[in-house]
Amino acid sequence: MGKILGIDLGTTNSLAAVWQEGKSVLIPNSFGEYLTPSVVSFGEGSMVYVGKTAKERLVSHPDQSVAVFKRFMGTDKKYKLNGKKYRPEELSAFVLRKLKEDAQLYLGEMIEEAVVSVPAYFNDKARKATKNAGELAGLKVERIINEPSAAALACRGGESKEDETFLVFDFGGGTLDVSLVDCFDNIVEIIAVSGDNHLGGSDFDEEIARQFCREHGLEFDGISSQRRRIILESANRAKCGLSEKKDIVMKVTDGDFKGQMDLDNKKLIKASASLFQRISVPVKKVLNDGKKNMLDISKAVLVGGSCKMPAVQQYLRHMMGGYHLTVMDPDYMVALGTGIYAGIKERREDIKDLLLTDICPFTLGTGIFNEGDAKRTLMSTIIERNSVLPCSRRAHFQTVFDYQKHVAVGIYQGEEYYADNNIHLGEVKVDVLPALKGKETITVDYTYDINGILIVDVEVDSTGEKKRQVITTGEDNIPPEEMGRRIAELEKMTFHPADQEENQMVTAWGERLYAQTTGVLRDEIGKRLDHIQHLLYAEQNPYKAKKWKRKMESFFKDVENYLNDVGIDWGQEDIDSWYVEESEDNEEQQEEDWLWYNGHLTH
Ligand code: AMP
Repeated sequence: MGKILGIDLGTTNSLAAVWQEGKSVLIPNSFGEYLTPSVVSFGEGSMVYVGKTAKERLVSHPDQSVAVFKRFMGTDKKYKLNGKKYRPEELSAFVLRKLKEDAQLYLGEMIEEAVVSVPAYFNDKARKATKNAGELAGLKVERIINEPSAAALACRGGESKEDETFLVFDFGGGTLDVSLVDCFDNIVEIIAVSGDNHLGGSDFDEEIARQFCREHGLEFDGISSQRRRIILESANRAKCGLSEKKDIVMKVTDGDFKGQMDLDNKKLIKASASLFQRISVPVKKVLNDGKKNMLDISKAVLVGGSCKMPAVQQYLRHMMGGYHLTVMDPDYMVALGTGIYAGIKERREDIKDLLLTDICPFTLGTGIFNEGDAKRTLMSTIIERNSVLPCSRRAHFQTVFDYQKHVAVGIYQGEEYYADNNIHLGEVKVDVLPALKGKETITVDYTYDINGILIVDVEVDSTGEKKRQVITTGEDNIPPEEMGRRIAELEKMTFHPADQEENQMVTAWGERLYAQTTGVLRDEIGKRLDHIQHLLYAEQNPYKAKKWKRKMESFFKDVENYLNDVGIDWGQEDIDSWYVEESEDNEEQQEEDWLWYNGHLTH
């Protein structure tokens, strides 16, 4: 078998690695550097530049150069460059080809296969686009690996070490992915993943830029897009500068306008307090999903450019109650992991026993009849989120009407209580024998594999009729006619007693908790939601509903307390209580905080 290249195809930079002499080794590019900027620029004739040169040309030849196209992988977006249109996967193919050619020169052998990492929340379309990009670059991409999973592998380094549970905190330019990883013997198991697809370094840039505007009497949303871009770029430079220096002067020049602002970490944190709050949400969620407490966690591995921010590192340290934060070079972890994965795929003797298990990041289920409101089916879970892949689950359903002729099994992805609030992936319709309700039954099997393919098998128990649908999960863009149809549906709606504010609030509360939980707790919340549905819609009894609502509120409060009790002080107090400049004294203080926190010291 030929050599397999591990590739971290990043939004900002890309890297390559191979498994060599018992370890993962990064491959330098033609400049002797490991990072190749993910930038493509077209020159005269058929000339194309990739990497450092292309990055320079972004400023000098903006119409011929392009960056950050990874964000649009799997979408229909096209970039017009030099009079031709390019899809994101075609642009990524140029980057992959450059990495491949540099690697071939360095290693002195031809490379035909690669494993490529993608963000954990990339949907199937984006994953397919990544595979296509590989193909366009002359690379067979049989395996895709989630970026945090690759970082987890890199953290184990391919060796068997002591058993441990840790967090991988992957914080990039536009997304945050948190994975909970359990390692024992030679198994690296991803137990739970969570994230925020709309939180990243660019949000900090925006908050700094908004602060700058406030100080200069400018309206951030009202200024010209060009000035906004200039301020944002300057904010980004200032933010990056703070990972080297304690304070920095942010300078902006745009035509006649000149302005400057002093910035240090405290000011940055104050300006972006809400972003810090959002960081804690997915951490809390993976701990709950994985049924772990912060005290079970041996360390946090930081990956992604935004983890270079000292304020982010401080916040994580505070959240984790002290010192056990491992800051490995955030730029290299994912690539090193893809190198290990390439070694596993090559079945190399020194690594072939290392096993990485990954999970399904969302719930897969079907819609079931809602006694209270026949128009809105409820989500019935078949494969629970965070199930280990590949996985297969079976469920049984029965008819709900007398002499019903067909059963339609709607296939949904998502965490919402109502099936139609989740992503509709497809439907399997089968004929049943006419009989009294509940007499005819069907068996439904869902099988979800490591490449994101879902197979749904439906069998009618009385007749043995079988139907299968193979679905590649992926959020489709909603076509305009579908959007028009949905708007028309909404306009047709009339108000119902259930729409009273209070009921709406408590129901929404329950639905959020339902989406946040798994297992027995989720079932219990679901049962209560079903009951209030019944009282409000079927019985239309506002008095009983009111009484029941009070009970629900108290139950939801308990659930909320339970969810919050994961051993972390989530209080969003004044930042002075958690942000301290790094120094030796402070390290001592942090150590002490950790001991207090873990009960090793008593007041
Ligand atoms: P990534 O997607 O992992 O390449 O991360 C890109 C993000 O990391 C961008 O928002 C950058 O502004 C941010 N970033 C890169 N280097 C630094 C640094 N030294 N300090 C702070 N943020 C950084």
